[in-house]
Amino acid sequence: MRAHLLAGPAPRDFRMDASAPQPLIALSGIEVSLPSEAGLVHILRGIDLDVADGEAVGLVGPSGSGKSTLLMVLAGLERPTAGEVRVAGRTFAGMDEDALALFRRDNIGVVFQSFHLIATMTALENVAVPLEFAGRRDAFDRAGAELEAVGLGHRLGHYPSQLSGGEQQRVALARAVAAGPKLLLADEPTGNLDGATGAAVIDLIFARHARLGTTLVLITHDVALASACDRIVQLKDGRIESIAPGAGRGALAAR
Ligand code: ADP
Ligand code: MG
Repeated sequence: MRAHLLAGPAPRDFRMDASAPQPLIALSGIEVSLPSEAGLVHILRGIDLDVADGEAVGLVGPSGSGKSTLLMVLAGLERPTAGEVRVAGRTFAGMDEDALALFRRDNIGVVFQSFHLIATMTALENVAVPLEFAGRRDAFDRAGAELEAVGLGHRLGHYPSQLSGGEQQRVALARAVAAGPKLLLADEPTGNLDGATGAAVIDLIFARHARLGTTLVLITHDVALASACDRIVQLKDGRIESIAPGAGRGALAAR
């Protein structure tokens, strides 16, 4: 230890307590500004946020406050104009588009409000094809098991147009988690679903989070849903307005 201390400057991310867990997400000084006809639009104006491994964060705020943009930055789908994104120990800035795509494939699942399934593929293919691209020999078995887990074992050969909204979102969820991501990002996943159907999708998302310790960032307008997370991060005008503790999963049962 002493020899190490005398050997020179500490490594860059040296920590006094080596056992202190690294956050799964570390955002510092995130800004996104885009040009528009009216000049530069500042969408995110300096976001600093750490999310612990296994934590569930509810991201709330008025429409236009920057929630979806922040989620896209987290997914590596949007490059911030300034600031640093680190997920699972990897800093995005040094990664090119291919490296980011590979990293996302192995570490991050995303669920959108509008499902984003491929219309010409069956439910099974929608889930299996990304796994095949990832080189998984068991892609179709794995996809079948994931669809089974979301209650769609009897819909494997159906095309998206033959599925209800809730079923399509469950396919999208199966696809998002099939590769076993450390991080699941969900942007208003129940926004296009009726109450009961949405609740079933949310139960599946939280069950996954609880069972496998998948870190969750969930954008929602549903206060009860946000409260079911460990923390509620409120955005306003591209900044974090407040961070509050959530009430936990009990808040869901009370709906
Ligand atoms: P939220 O998800 O909270 O509703 P968004 O992140 O979608 O907010 O958008 C934040 C703001 O950025 C909005 O005012 C929106 O109009 C603007 N915005 C989003 N994407 C673009 C873009 N590609 N070009 C210009 N403005 C954009
Ligand atoms: Mg949005």
